Amino acid sequence: MICSEITNLPFSLYSTFVIEARHGFNKQTIWLFFRDMLKEFALWLFLKGGAYLAIYLWAFMLVVSLVMMTIYPILIAPLFNKFTPLPEGQLRQKIEKLASSLKFPLKKLYVVDGSTRSSHSNAYMYGFFNNKRIVLYDTLLQQCKNDEEIVAVLAHELGHWKLNHTVYLFISVQIRMLLHFGGYNLVRNSSSLFQSFGFDTQPVIIGLIIFQHTIIPIEHLVHFVRNLVSRAFEFQADAFAKKLGYASSLRASLVRLQEENLSAMNTDPWYSAYHYSHPPLVERLAAVDNSYKKAD
Ligand SMILES: [Zn+2]
Repeated sequence: MICSEITNLPFSLYSTFVIEARHGFNKQTIWLFFRDMLKEFALWLFLKGGAYLAIYLWAFMLVVSLVMMTIYPILIAPLFNKFTPLPEGQLRQKIEKLASSLKFPLKKLYVVDGSTRSSHSNAYMYGFFNNKRIVLYDTLLQQCKNDEEIVAVLAHELGHWKLNHTVYLFISVQIRMLLHFGGYNLVRNSSSLFQSFGFDTQPVIIGLIIFQHTIIPIEHLVHFVRNLVSRAFEFQADAFAKKLGYASSLRASLVRLQEENLSAMNTDPWYSAYHYSHPPLVERLAAVDNSYKKAD
């Protein structure tokens, strides 16, 4: 099926976008064409996957996510927000200096308008290998009092990169996805499980429902562990920024951003231990101050 799809691709593209279009029949865009093709392919995999279904599905999702990671920031994000290069000036110089001191291959530096995101998305980085870009939200520029505070936030973000947090997170997502598909495959092939729910046959949809219910307790545990690790990463990135000498600016910017976003200051430790991907402000400030004293 895959081989015939690939060999047929030029012909079906030609027939849809040249012949059909010439006669005014084509209402499809190229995006829609490929999206339908991907959907068909995913469905085919799902139904025919056999013993290696989990591997096929995972490989398929991996390719899709790598493609999305490449095209999303370049083709899709600009449709929703306006990206402008950060103008020349002191702030730009400071950021470039920080990036080069960490050997971060910064190729482009943008400001994006209208941040409607959470308090933790004030700046982000993207790109593969030696072609990386940094995007600052305009709200970050407005909310911080001086350049140092903005650079401190970036030092924290670059800490995530330098300490390989992004790579670890990507790998953990891949492992989780593979386990999900593997788990589904186990459920799908277990006739006794279907029988215990009163089904003599094994319809795909029932397999999916049974699987969904089986993993709910495990998912709670995964959620807890994921947040635990994520909070540890946040502390590490804060410590990284501090080591570069941004302790007081980071402190100031954390407080300011928290105020602007009206987030809770000091939450119940049990509640935050399960629900929060970022440590509460009070804990973060305490950690910054603590290691500050230790460094003295
Ligand atoms: Zn962070």
